[in-house]
Amino acid sequence: MTAQLIDGKAIAEQVRQQVQEDVAAMVSAGKPKPGLATVLVGENPASQVYVSMKQKACAQAGVESFGHKLPETATQEEVEKLVSELNADERINGILVQLPLPAGLDEERVLNTISIEKDVDGFHPLNIGRLAQKGRDPLYVPCTPYGCIYLLEQVGVKIEGANAVVLGRSNIVGMPAALLLVRRNATVTICHSRTQDLPGVVRGADILIAAIGRAQMVRGDWIKPGAAIIDVGINRIEDPSHPKGSRLVGDVHFDEAKEVADWITPVPGGVGPMTIAMLLRNTVRAAKLAG
Ligand code: NDP
Repeated sequence: MTAQLIDGKAIAEQVRQQVQEDVAAMVSAGKPKPGLATVLVGENPASQVYVSMKQKACAQAGVESFGHKLPETATQEEVEKLVSELNADERINGILVQLPLPAGLDEERVLNTISIEKDVDGFHPLNIGRLAQKGRDPLYVPCTPYGCIYLLEQVGVKIEGANAVVLGRSNIVGMPAALLLVRRNATVTICHSRTQDLPGVVRGADILIAAIGRAQMVRGDWIKPGAAIIDVGINRIEDPSHPKGSRLVGDVHFDEAKEVADWITPVPGGVGPMTIAMLLRNTVRAAKLAG
């Protein structure tokens, strides 16, 4: 059996198209364009690339972006002061503080400073707390986990009643992904570095979300026949046959797993493109909530 591919690139493009149409409708109704502020502290090269990708995506969708840079030496007070100014700026509907922050800065305090109405990354403790509580709804859901669930829903994978296994318990992917699945009535097992018999646990998964950052660790014989696999991992491995000498792979051994699963995301082109698409979607939601 060969699994059907979940084409994250195409699905993300549809989301971005919808965002563009929503923005155009807002503008033609006389409303301002939604605004997203990005805050980049320090010189982390990967963070610079992510921020510039987000700004380009904003421009393409008609969302106004306001880029703010602070030096590596910025103090906690300087970062929090900037966030407070952005909270008060009416042109800005969403604030994205690119993580990780340089060593010495207290990430939790910075995230706490963001006004919950502008927390389009969904990392504010209040939004995460609401996500974890029955009968409460967060204003925004973290973008990568939101993208994972969106992919499952778009291809029609039944979440309710499914046994779902999430590999990884990070604040940005694993834990919120597990919370989203439980809210959709899956029975969820969360695995981490101390989990015993990982292959055995994964073999029970109708839905597998892998977010551990370990290249191709999940093998084909771990997969339950007919499972749906969302591979969040992004890992670079050496490959002399590739022009660059290396290539990106996920946490799941794709070639083996696709022979057993019913649905699988590729890496790249699966979850990756969804993160920015969901950020744009959250920003438009923020603009609508602001009126
Ligand atoms: P973290 O390093 O924060 O978390 C990794 C998690 O995996 C931890 O919970 C850890 O367990 C667990 N883990 C690590 N090794 C093992 C193992 N051998 N067996 C079982 N569990 C293990 O990573 P992130 O959540 O930030 O990212 C995970 C992956 O997703 C990375 O490859 C990252 O690049 C990718 N990613 C992709 C995004 C996208 O597509 N847009 C966005 C964000 C991340 P413990 O808690 O015990 O340490």
